[in-house]
Amino acid sequence: MSARLALYPGSFDPFTLGHLDIVERASRLFDRVEVTVAENTNKKRLLTLEQRRELVEDCTSHLDNVTVRSFTGLLADYAGSRGACALVRGLRQVSDFEYEFRMAFANRRLAPDIETVFLMTGEQYALVSSSIVREIHHWGGDISSFVPLPVLRVLNNTDVPGLQ
Ligand code: ADP
Repeated sequence: MSARLALYPGSFDPFTLGHLDIVERASRLFDRVEVTVAENTNKKRLLTLEQRRELVEDCTSHLDNVTVRSFTGLLADYAGSRGACALVRGLRQVSDFEYEFRMAFANRRLAPDIETVFLMTGEQYALVSSSIVREIHHWGGDISSFVPLPVLRVLNNTDVPGLQ
């Protein structure tokens, strides 16, 4: 039987400890996990697609069965072309559910063979989001308890544009 590949798609702008928690959980469930870094169409962008891809790679380098790729386009088509059997999404609280529910049904209609699998975040990350990190960073606050070290280094040392 061929190895089971799951994609974990997101914009990861920036990648947080909550995202890392989900990748680690997924890597224990599937043979291979690809973190799929998508173009962020949100106007409040912090990092470029390439910066985000490199950072996710740094943050997940300890996980043997995890790879990272960036992509632009329709996720359902892309997941099919990669031969993925599942899309992993993280759930923090009930408020995530409505959006995730709609996305999962849309993706199922477009790619019926690919299951969306929801993993619950560790309790300590239930209130961590990329948008909160962007906001705190914009105002010069301490983001060290929200993001992995490589992200902290880049955000603290690089002149990344703040909220646009
Ligand atoms: P998107 O723009 O696709 O929502 P994100 O990068 O914000 O991408 O999130 C990617 C996935 O990770 C989503 O399923 C989101 O619910 C999940 N996620 C975000 N933050 C956390 C967290 N703190 N714990 C668990 N899952 C999370």
